[in-house]
Amino acid sequence: MKKIRTKLSIISFISLVICFLCAYWGYRSYKGLESINAQLMQATDIEANLRLATDLPFYRSINKNLTAYKGQLEPEYRDKLMKKIISAHNRKSRGRLKTAIKNFRKQEKRRTSYLKDNKSVYESRILSLAYVMGLSYLLTILFISLYTYSSVFRPLKSLSKRMIDFLDNRYTYQFRVPKENEVGELELNFHSLAQRVLNNIEELKSLDSAKSDFLNMASHELRTPLTSIKGSLILLQNGVIGEVNEKSKQLLGIAEVETDRLIRLINELLDLAKIEAGKFPLQQDWCSLDEVITNTLFSLEGLAATADVKLSYENKNKLVEIDKDRIQQVITNLMSNAIKYSPQKGTVRVAASLDNNNHILIEIIDQGKGISPEDQSLIFEKFRQASGPQNPIVKGTGLGLAIARAIVEEHGGEIGVHSRVGEGSTFHFTLPTWKEDTSAPDEEQNDDEGVAA
Ligand code: ADP
Repeated sequence: MKKIRTKLSIISFISLVICFLCAYWGYRSYKGLESINAQLMQATDIEANLRLATDLPFYRSINKNLTAYKGQLEPEYRDKLMKKIISAHNRKSRGRLKTAIKNFRKQEKRRTSYLKDNKSVYESRILSLAYVMGLSYLLTILFISLYTYSSVFRPLKSLSKRMIDFLDNRYTYQFRVPKENEVGELELNFHSLAQRVLNNIEELKSLDSAKSDFLNMASHELRTPLTSIKGSLILLQNGVIGEVNEKSKQLLGIAEVETDRLIRLINELLDLAKIEAGKFPLQQDWCSLDEVITNTLFSLEGLAATADVKLSYENKNKLVEIDKDRIQQVITNLMSNAIKYSPQKGTVRVAASLDNNNHILIEIIDQGKGISPEDQSLIFEKFRQASGPQNPIVKGTGLGLAIARAIVEEHGGEIGVHSRVGEGSTFHFTLPTWKEDTSAPDEEQNDDEGVAA
């Protein structure tokens, strides 16, 4: 199965053996060449001394030079011929010397030509070995490049494309017999993994839809009785049925608050069900941004007063094309969260401006304990609440931000949060469609206006 590795190992081994053999023969040839060169140099040296011996008188120094070759010359016949030359020189016999030198030169001529022939054989052998080595190196590189391209890089590229398709939900399974190598194995594993993930997603989807169906049905069934329970509680509290003592009033008050919470939860669940079913039509109209924000702040004054939190907003004189109730729902959710998580005597500020894309940017800034970076990416998911010591679980559903995100995205905007633990949070969202409100007074004059609680 591990074909690629085996093939690459075999070809690398063969190329290594070829290179090793070439290097070995090359080294031996080089050594041979070196020895021939040394012998040729010696022959030149001897010839120079012989010339001196013929041309000059019988000097002792020449005799000494010739004697140095004695016993050093190979093959044996050279040594013998040299001995004759030395002996003739010793006897100072010019005639004998000439004859001895003539014999020596005759033999040397043959030998030198033999050495030169050998030298060119060695030289061409070294050259051929260098060619073989270079060619084997080039062929190995070529084979490895082509083989890795066709067996590794090309299939990996196509696999990577399939992975991207998978991530972009465009994955389709086409059966192909994978190659019997490591990449084929990877391809096969990826397809099995993708199939398993797709099956799991299908399973989760059907479970999720069953859960949503159940929640919808339960919410619908609960809303009517809860509304009538709330009505009955108000009647009881107001003494319509009969006088109610302080203790009972207190208990009825708690029951009403909790009933409100349940009704809110059910409404949020039903909103979410509508969003998920794509049945969340917006009724967009041009309206004043200031009006939407100040109305929301007004409705939250009671909550802010109870929490001892100040609210502030600077008017901006813009008209936005929105579903007023839905955007009010978003701001209410973000503001009530900000109030809920603010310290006493803190301030929650609402600011409207234009962002880099020239969209209206609305920011809700609090001085609460902030949200950790890991939680910031989670809290916009449904049923998710921030955890950790700075975020003790406050009674809530974990649905508000998921609904706010869906509403903002339906308007073509974006929602997000910047926060640093211990320094507060800034929730922000954008509204892309707006125009100046020419009927309103100048912004500068309104900058000091605000709503305070
Ligand atoms: P809920 O408030 O009902 O729990 P949300 O979806 O509105 O649900 O908020 C999700 C979570 O985000 C909250 O439970 C809280 O942990 C965190 N959160 C939201 N707003 C703030 C804020 N202004 N400061 C700190 N944490 C916040």
